Amino acid sequence: MLVKTLVFFINALFLLPSTEAATVTCKAAEDEKWSYHGETNVFSAHNSPHLLGPSAWGESFPTCYGKEQSPISIDTSNAVVDTSSKQLHMKNYDVPITKAMIINNGHSAQVTQIDGVARTIEVQGSVFTFQQLHFHWGARYDSGSEHVIDDKRYALEAHFVHTNKDNTIAVVAVFFQASSQNNKGFQGIGDALPKIPFKGDTFDLQSGLTLRELLPDNPSGFYHYKGSLTTPPCKENVQWFILKGVNSIGEQQLTELRNLYSTTKDKEYAGCKLVDNFRPLQPLNSRSVFKTD
Ligand SMILES: [Zn+2]
Repeated sequence: MLVKTLVFFINALFLLPSTEAATVTCKAAEDEKWSYHGETNVFSAHNSPHLLGPSAWGESFPTCYGKEQSPISIDTSNAVVDTSSKQLHMKNYDVPITKAMIINNGHSAQVTQIDGVARTIEVQGSVFTFQQLHFHWGARYDSGSEHVIDDKRYALEAHFVHTNKDNTIAVVAVFFQASSQNNKGFQGIGDALPKIPFKGDTFDLQSGLTLRELLPDNPSGFYHYKGSLTTPPCKENVQWFILKGVNSIGEQQLTELRNLYSTTKDKEYAGCKLVDNFRPLQPLNSRSVFKTD
């Protein structure tokens, strides 16, 4: 009994800060069709459909109830070694982006390049062109990434979104762990974040952001599977390439992300911090996960 009581108090001590934060609720806007933290009970959600949380996204977006959804938890020992020697060839990833726009879209901070340079990845003869980059992060350092690798969640996951001629999407996912040192490659984005605190805010990125600088040192190894967008409409046309190497992000830079709001300024926004913007894990079902070696 004494042990149990002790455990309870220790748990209470550790849980207190996040529990307190969770009690400040965010009132979703009328036009919101989905959210990360809204109502997840389908029956009560029908009364307030704009509050749909992740487990009820399928009510408005049926594909979110599909069988090939993302993100997933990857057990690397069960991943199948890909004998077709799949390789990711990145082109112009090291060419600085001279013109880009960063937007707070209420669900993430997203960088769209508009400098006209084709940055591409080629995999098994298919060429995908880079469109935009966005992030998923947590309120704490041990949470934030969408995909989980051998039960580990990272502080941040970046998604490099590419499309090809057939409108198939290829996403290169990169994990970041928290560090006391700032990430130089992220600096241009980090500096722009205070300019886009509210949903709909945009800012022209001036500093030459380079995609290559946001990748881990060795970007050649990856896990691959077929899945979906991790936000509504959850379309199942995504080839996922999750890099094995992990990059790092400064604690201060994570704080800049956590200072964003998920709503516009013209309403009660105090409880609407844009954090924990990751979708819960989805079942693998009959899919296989492949790995480079
Ligand atoms: Zn994403």
